[in-house]
Amino acid sequence: MILSAKKITKSFTSIGNRLYVFKDLSFEIDKNELVTIVGPSGSGKSTLLNILGTLDSGDKGTIHINGVNISKMNDDELAEVRCKHIGFVFQYHHLIPELSALENVVLPQLIFSGDDNPKKAKEIIDFLGLSERMSHFPSQLSGGEMSRISVARALINSPKIVLADEPSGNLDHSNASKLIELFKSVNNEFDQSIIIATHDPSVASIGKRKFVLDNGLLTLVDNV
Ligand code: ADP
Ligand code: MG
Repeated sequence: MILSAKKITKSFTSIGNRLYVFKDLSFEIDKNELVTIVGPSGSGKSTLLNILGTLDSGDKGTIHINGVNISKMNDDELAEVRCKHIGFVFQYHHLIPELSALENVVLPQLIFSGDDNPKKAKEIIDFLGLSERMSHFPSQLSGGEMSRISVARALINSPKIVLADEPSGNLDHSNASKLIELFKSVNNEFDQSIIIATHDPSVASIGKRKFVLDNGLLTLVDNV
């Protein structure tokens, strides 16, 4: 089991009211699995992914990543786990506008190991079909191309887990399908476990296991 979350409870307090996003939620993903989580807007998908990816923490519960309990780690330790084991793909990419596509992909490698050799980044970008776009700045890329560059960035440190939050959220149908095919081939080609959160049932259908998150309950389903 590459990641396991046990009995995670998460609430937010606003104006004195406590709102529970979920209570006692448990979830596991194996090495090389492709899992999708579908649910309506506001159901807690981003909150769950952020907790699984150590960007946020639950009120209660335990998370093991690669067999190590991360629940009581301090910020520095969590940053190390994140850098080493987890790649993120966000709906709005968060690419750095002043850096070229290639430099954006190399950056996490530079931070992780001090290595700025672009060889591996070039190979991944090539695999994603963007070798002609390497020197472009984000403003010179289409939405679909930015998405693919952010997938390359998520893969650069060979993380064991890739978390994608609404990765196709602002793409048209054709680019969304391309991106989804890409996740499937990344899952086949590299050794990663991938969790995709989406409100789009057609994206969710590619999961080998598919979950629905609604009303605080995460349920395994056969079809979405
Ligand atoms: P989804 O990604 O499925 O659309 P979110 O995880 O973003 O859902 O949000 C789940 C619920 O938690 C929503 O009701 C949202 O308003 C609430 N929420 C998320 N983040 C915060 C926050 N930082 N403070 C207060 N409430 C929040
Ligand atoms: Mg969300």
